[in-house]
Amino acid sequence: MSPAPTAQRLSRPSPLRTRTFGQYRLTHLPDGLVQLRPTGWFPGLTAADTDGFPDHLDADGCLVAAIGGLLVEYEDRALLIDTGYGPRRLAADRTHPSMGELVGGGLLGSLTEAGRAPAEIDTIAFTHLHDDHVGWAFLGTDRGPLFSSASFVLSTAEWRGGGAGSIPAVLHDRVRPAVDGEEVFPGVTLRESPGHTGGHASYVIAGDGGPDGDRLIVTGDVLHSPLQVAHPHWPVFFDADRAAAVRTRTAFLQDAAAPGTVVYAGHFADVVFGRVRADRDGDGHVWDPLS
Ligand SMILES: [Zn+2]
Repeated sequence: MSPAPTAQRLSRPSPLRTRTFGQYRLTHLPDGLVQLRPTGWFPGLTAADTDGFPDHLDADGCLVAAIGGLLVEYEDRALLIDTGYGPRRLAADRTHPSMGELVGGGLLGSLTEAGRAPAEIDTIAFTHLHDDHVGWAFLGTDRGPLFSSASFVLSTAEWRGGGAGSIPAVLHDRVRPAVDGEEVFPGVTLRESPGHTGGHASYVIAGDGGPDGDRLIVTGDVLHSPLQVAHPHWPVFFDADRAAAVRTRTAFLQDAAAPGTVVYAGHFADVVFGRVRADRDGDGHVWDPLS
């Protein structure tokens, strides 16, 4: 695809994007998008504040959050981190006042485009159990679950904190709760990052020491918009524990700014892969998208 200027990419959802990272092939699988109303999503922000980031707003004045999943392929194995919203659409007047339209439906086509069938996914890892992350995971077909071979990884805290109610009972024998630092797929470890939900998890993918980087971190909903890289203290309406979320976000950015670190932020419009670096003053951070 022809590259678009970054400004255009800030106000549209990401298409399918693939990159290699060490021994892995990583693919952002688009499912859809959700519009975020800045003054609702970030309580305390005013309409005047939004004048400061016109490049991030769509025609409706909303931030555009991509929805999808990250396909992680290693040798003949395939992991999917989060599974989008699923084949449905909610008009703006049927979502929450902090949101506009919420649309899913593309993920299976994206998976096909990436050359994989649902049955080839051996592990699904959730950052958390909100609707826009588990959408396709629990859907079935006449012959059983869509992802017929997959086990389901999530943090032990998320599982104990309501996971049993969110995941259909018939699939509970496939659930593999994991703790901080536990390897859930070759070279991929879970990292607890509480705040958005009590058991929210990020995932760290180990690099091979080559030019791609030493590690890639999958943020989950520690971050929803690239604006938060410079403004980690903005409260987020849907963070279950807003103080904990700010602490997690701040620590995450400091850690992610370490050399050799690549970040995948699945909600970041069309700049889902990037790097965090310290800003010129050294007291904040900047998001540098990767192509
Ligand atoms: Zn989300």
